[in-house]
Amino acid sequence: MHMDSDVIIVGAGPAGLSLAISLAQAGFAATVLDQNPASALEQPAPDGREIALTHPSVATLQQLGSWAGLAPSEIGHIRAAHVHDGPVGAHTAMQLHVPDSPATQDGLLPPLGFIVPNHALRRTAYGVAAQTPGVRIVSGAQVHRVATLPAHAEVDYTDAAAPGKGSERLCAPLVVAADSRFSATRRQLGIGAQMTDFGRTVIVCRMHHTQPHADIAHECFGYERTLAVLPLPDDAMGRAQCSVVVTARAADAARLMALEPGAFTAEVQAQFQNRLGDMQLIEQRHAYPLVAVYAQRFTGPRCALLGDAAVGMHPVTAHGYNLGLAGVQRLTQALVAARQQGQDLGDAAALAPYARAHHLHAWPIYLGTNAIVRLYTDARPLPRLLRQTVLQGARRLPPLRAAIVGQLTGKTPGWQQPLARLGTALAAAMPGR
Ligand SMILES: Cc1cc2nc3c(=O)[nH]c(=O)nc-3n(C[C@H](O)[C@H](O)[C@H](O)COP(=O)(O)OP(=O)(O)OC[C@H]3O[C@@H](n4cnc5c(N)ncnc54)[C@H](O)[C@@H]3O)c2cc1C
Repeated sequence: MHMDSDVIIVGAGPAGLSLAISLAQAGFAATVLDQNPASALEQPAPDGREIALTHPSVATLQQLGSWAGLAPSEIGHIRAAHVHDGPVGAHTAMQLHVPDSPATQDGLLPPLGFIVPNHALRRTAYGVAAQTPGVRIVSGAQVHRVATLPAHAEVDYTDAAAPGKGSERLCAPLVVAADSRFSATRRQLGIGAQMTDFGRTVIVCRMHHTQPHADIAHECFGYERTLAVLPLPDDAMGRAQCSVVVTARAADAARLMALEPGAFTAEVQAQFQNRLGDMQLIEQRHAYPLVAVYAQRFTGPRCALLGDAAVGMHPVTAHGYNLGLAGVQRLTQALVAARQQGQDLGDAAALAPYARAHHLHAWPIYLGTNAIVRLYTDARPLPRLLRQTVLQGARRLPPLRAAIVGQLTGKTPGWQQPLARLGTALAAAMPGR
C-alpha cells in the first residue's frame, strides 16, 4: 500500500498546522487538509477572538517558528488580572500578578500572559507550515470519509468548490482529527464526546476607550451576564483598545447582537462602570454559542484527536488553544518515541502515552472550568453565597493565587506538586481511560 505521508491531519486550524510543523521538525512527513481555500488560510479574516496565551504556549510557538511572524502590534501583554464578584469596583475579589519579580526595563510588571488575535495565530501557523519541508497542505479539501484499517488509515475528500468533481483518497499510518469541537472526523472514527451546552452565547468585539487599561484584564462575574475586558496593544494611531467579551443567555445575546453599535457600547460601558472612559465599538461583533466538549477517547488504532476536536473548552478560563499546543508537544513526543522503538505510528499502544498524558492534564482543567461557569451563572442564594466565599477565600489565600500564576507562567511552586498529583489521580480514575 502506497502511503502519502506519515500522518494525515484533518483541519488546518491553529492546532492542526502547529502539529504539522512540529512533526516536520521531528523528521516526519505530514499532510494537512482543510475545506478552506488557500487564500482564507493564508490571510484568515478576523473572528473577534483574542487568545490569551501562557508562557509555556509562547515558548512552543517560538520553537515552531510561528511566534516570529507576529507583528509587535499583534502581541498584547496581560500584566495583572482582576476578578470581580459582581460589577467592577463593587468588590475586587482577587488580583493576580507575577509576585516578587523585578519590574521590566520600562518599569512595568512582568507579563502574566500574552494576548494575540486568533486570525494572526492562524496566519503565522499557515505561513510557517507552507514553508516547512515535510509539510503538505491540501486546501479546499472537504473531508467526507475517514476509515481506519488494520494496515493504514484512509481519508477521502472532495474539492470544496466543486463537490461534483469526484473524490480523492490519501493514505497514511495515522490520521489526526483537528477539525474543531464539532469534529465530523471524530464521529467517523466512532469516538463519542461528552458535550455540555451552557445555553449561553459569548459575544466578542474590539473597542476603543479614552482611559488607559494599564495592561490589566478584568473579569466581572455578574449574575445574568459576565463581562471580560482584556487589554490590547494601542492601535496604529496610538489609541487605546481592548477586547470585550460578554457572556449572556442565548436570548439576551441575540438582543445584544441586534442592538445598534452605540446602544451596545453604552450597555458595556455602563456594566464596566465607565472605568475606561468613553468606549467605541471598532469592528463587528462575533457570537459563539457556548458548548464544551470532551472526547471519550483521544486515541485509537491509527487515529488521534487534537485541539478542540479532543477538548473544546468554555473560553472563560482561556485554556482552549493552550491545551491544543500542549497536545501538539505530547503527540509529537509519543510519535518520536514510537519511531525510536521501531513501532508502527498508528499502533494504539504507541499513541496511548499521548492520550494518557493529555487526559491527565486536560480533565481537571475541563472539570474546574465547567464548575466555575456553573457557580458564576447560578443566581440562587446558596450558589451566590458559595461563590462569594470561594472568591473571598481565594483573595486571602496566597497559595491559591500563586498556583494560578504558576500555571500561567509555567513556574509551578514546589508545594503545589501534591495538588497536581491529586488532580492526576482523579483524572486517572475516570472510567474508560
Ligand atoms: C470567544 C472565544 C475565545 C477564546 N479565547 C481563548 C483564549 O483566550 N485562550 C485560549 O487558549 N483559547 C481560547 N479560545 C479557544 C481557541 O480559539 C480554540 O481552542 C482554537 O482556535 C481551536 O483550534 P483548532 O485548530 O483545534 O480548531 P479550529 O480553529 O476550529 O480549526 C478547525 C479547522 O478544521 C477545518 N475543518 C472542519 N471540518 C472539516 C472537514 N470536514 N474537512 C476539512 N477541513 C475541515 C476548519 O475549516 C478549520 O480550519 C477561545 C475560543 C472562543 C470561541
